[in-house]
This record gives sequence, structure tokens and C-alpha cells, in this order.
Amino acid sequence: MTLTVDQLDTDVLIVGGGLAGLRAAIAAAEGGVRVMIACKRKAGRSGNTLVAEGGIAVGSPNVDPEDSIEQHVADTLASGKDLCDPILSRMLAENSEKEVFGLTRFGVVLGRDKSGNLLRGQPPGHTKRRSLRAESDHLPKNARGQSITIPLLKFAENLGVTLLDRTPILRLLSRDGAIESALAMDEEKERYLVIHAKAVIIAAGGAGQMFSLTNNTADITGDSYALALDAGADLRDMEFPQFYPNWGISPFRSTISSVMMGEGAVFRNKNQERFMPSYYPEAKDMATRDQTSLAIFQEVQAGRGVEGGVYLDASGVDREVLEVKFHHLTEAMRRLNLEFGKDPVIVTPVVHHYMGGISVNRHLESGVHGLFAAGEACGGTHGANRLSGNAFSECIVFGALSGAAATEYARGREMPRPAGKESIAAMLPSLAFQEEGPDIADLRREMREINWKKNGIIRTEESLLAG
Ligand SMILES: Cc1cc2nc3c(=O)[nH]c(=O)nc-3n(C[C@H](O)[C@H](O)[C@H](O)COP(=O)(O)OP(=O)(O)OC[C@H]3O[C@@H](n4cnc5c(N)ncnc54)[C@H](O)[C@@H]3O)c2cc1C
Repeated sequence: MTLTVDQLDTDVLIVGGGLAGLRAAIAAAEGGVRVMIACKRKAGRSGNTLVAEGGIAVGSPNVDPEDSIEQHVADTLASGKDLCDPILSRMLAENSEKEVFGLTRFGVVLGRDKSGNLLRGQPPGHTKRRSLRAESDHLPKNARGQSITIPLLKFAENLGVTLLDRTPILRLLSRDGAIESALAMDEEKERYLVIHAKAVIIAAGGAGQMFSLTNNTADITGDSYALALDAGADLRDMEFPQFYPNWGISPFRSTISSVMMGEGAVFRNKNQERFMPSYYPEAKDMATRDQTSLAIFQEVQAGRGVEGGVYLDASGVDREVLEVKFHHLTEAMRRLNLEFGKDPVIVTPVVHHYMGGISVNRHLESGVHGLFAAGEACGGTHGANRLSGNAFSECIVFGALSGAAATEYARGREMPRPAGKESIAAMLPSLAFQEEGPDIADLRREMREINWKKNGIIRTEESLLAG
């Protein structure tokens, strides 16, 4: 098949239309430059943002009178096992209140109880009740992220941001250490696009689909990292996938918010024993995700698991809290003629998030000039373990900051010249469709299994090297 090649240009190109990409697009467009979002699927309706539960961490006395930015930083660093980039962790905490409450400017509605108070939760690892969320009860469970992305998408469109949906970026091209253009596939018009840009922000999410078991959406295949590495940027902490302990496998498959542990839910093994206190006598069921995943894994390995997981017992959670805060789950159970908190629910750990990612400085710029990153594409903010709600805060804060930084950079640059026929031809051959060779589906399955086994819940230098 021979495809045509067309050329486009923009000041700031954003790769990915999830929360980080949309927030970055608004910041750049408000800075007065031309902005384009190229998205593998549909901007605002794709990526992990779409299916997220929507917890957003904001450490501020205006959310919890006993909280502070310093406490949010301390909790983030402790959860990350002091392997965080402390500058990035602090930037996240310092800007979260302004940026999260600033979402209301775009039409996002924060969730409140019947008395009008902000709904706040305290997921494991947070020492204060600082987890907010956008109002999303009207949305289907697997599309709650639209409570934020659709208002942002509309706002971006009104600012004149160009949307290229179903247009995955295949490769980023740099010259003399600076980003210059991107090669994309316009799937609808069946053509290649060479997009020239003064600055590029990678916001193509994490890499959950590189593992056998994940709750990530199908489009999250590690493209952020592959594109950055190929363009000459450094990655960091790639041995840190995050495992989420509360992935429901029975009676339905779904993420069960860890906020529920803060409301009194506990884990039990097949003998109905609470096992978390024996692993973590202080934190018990409020241990962080990495600790809980490890404990569940060990219970299953020791033969005390049930269907490859353990029970999540929500009988201690207040009924009204269950109905208000976990409405989607209680509804899902009701549809099966079951009752949450009474009938058994089984959970197991799956890959949920990537803490590793593109190495960036305080301007969210990688080692390649003009190449920025935001959201799950970035590495370092969360160290070895991310706290619940900190991913959304990171997308919102780093989206805004990277958009502003990329705009500043683009203002001082000339537009790269259109590529000649020869340089376009040089980009394409290695991407040509292969008629022969190994089956891609087989390779993908094998890669996922290797990652699951060698970069899994228990991993060592030896297993990583072998993988
Ligand atoms: C089930 C689940 C629940 C979660 N709940 C929470 C929560 O409550 N709170 C929280 O803080 N975090 C949560 N997270 C994590 C959080 O959702 C993600 O870290 C965050 O949404 C990532 O946003 P992003 O914009 O960086 O990437 P995504 O939202 O993943 O978006 C990536 C975008 O890039 C596009 N893309 C991918 N490859 C390419 C390419 N080559 N070219 C162009 N576009 C591309 C995708 O189509 C998509 O539009 C949850 C995650 C999951 C899986």
C-alpha cells in the first residue's frame, strides 16, 4: 500500500488528548500561539483519564484545615520511598490548589455533598483528607473522566486549538539537539503527515498495555517513552510500574477506589483472616498501593488466595458513604442482584500507572530542546510509588506549566523548514508495512508476559536484566 504524505505546521504540537494534553493545549493557546493536538484516538475521550475514578489530591488548609503544602510534599516523598525528584513533587503540591480549583474556569464541577461541602476522601498513604473529585455521577463508570475532559476539550476548541483525532504520532524528529517535526498517520484519510512544530509536548500517557494484566485503556502502549527515547531524550525510573491492588475480578471487573480503605473496608484471605495487619502493623489496610499489592501477591503465593486474589470486605463502610461516594460500585452490584458490603467481592493487583517516564527539568523540558512532557509521560514526580489522586493533580499542574513553557520556547524560534522529498523518504522505510516476519500479536503477547514476570510485583536487577 502506498500512502501520500502531507505537511502541516504549528507552533506547539501536543501528542495525546488526555487530561495532561488538554490542559497543556489550553495553556499554550492562552499564550497566543498556534496549537495542535494529535491524538491516537479521540481527544477528551481516550486514555486512562477517561476511565479514571477521578480522585484529585490537593494539599491545602482550604480543603482539610489540618493540611498544608508541606504535608502533601512529605506524604508524596514518603510514598515514593524518597526516590522522587523532590523539585517535581514540590511543584505538584505547590500548584495543585490553584490549578485544581482553576478547573472551574473551564466549566468543571467539583463534587459536593448534599450540604454543599466538597466531597473529600483520604486514600491510603495520604495523612489528610485531601482527595477531591469532579462531579461525575451522571456519567457511565468507564467514562467518568469526561467530567473534566469534555469541558476542557470545548474550552480548547473555542480557543482555536486544532484537533487531529485518530492521528497517532509515529516518530519525533530532532535536529542539532532541538525538536523539529513529527511523523503521524492520519488513519481516516489514510495518509502520512509530517507536522513541523517549534515545540512538542508529549502527553501520550503511560505503558500499562505493555503488561499482561492491566486496567489501562487499549491506547496506552508506552508511546510517550518510545517517542522520547527515539528523539534523543532520557527516561528515568522505568523499573517502577505501579500495581493497583483493588482491581475487582469478581463479581465484576472494575477498579475499586482505594478511597474505600479510608472509609473502613479491609482485605481478607480465603480463610476470612485480615492479613494486612500482619504485614503492616501500623498502616494495616491503609498501606500504600505497592505494599498492599505485595501483601496480596504473597497471600496468593502462600495458597491463601481466592481465584487468584483476595476478598475486599466493605461491611465496615457506612451505608450512606457507600451510596454517595461509591455510587457506581453499589449500582453495579445491584444490577447483579447483589449488595456491596454484604456479598463477596474479590480483588487482585494489576498494572495501573507508570511512575517512570521522560526525564524533565523544572520547566518540564527534556534533554532535547523544545521537547516537553506532561502527565503520566513524565518520570520522577512519584518516585517508587504514586499516591492516589496525585496523577490527576500532576496532569493538571504539569499540563498547565508545560503549555506555558512550550509557548515561551516557541515564541523565540523560527518555524522549521518543510521537509524535502528525500528526508521524508528517509523517515518512512522502517515504518513500512511488513508483509513477512513474526506475527505482531504474538510478539505483543510475549512482551506483555515478559514484563509481567520480570518487571512484576517482585522484581530484582537480575530479573529486569533477564527480561
Ligand atoms: C482505572 C484507572 C483509574 C484511575 N484513577 C485515578 C484517580 O482517581 N486519580 C488519579 O489521580 N489518577 C488515577 N488514575 C491514573 C490517571 O488516570 C492517569 O495517570 C492520567 O489520567 C494520565 O493522563 P495523561 O493525560 O497523562 O494520559 P492519558 O489520559 O492516558 O492520555 C493519553 C493520550 O495520548 C493518546 N496517545 C497515546 N499514544 C499516542 C500517540 N502515539 N500519538 C498520539 N496520541 C497518543 C491517547 O489516545 C490519549 O488520548 C487512574 C488510572 C486508571 C487506569
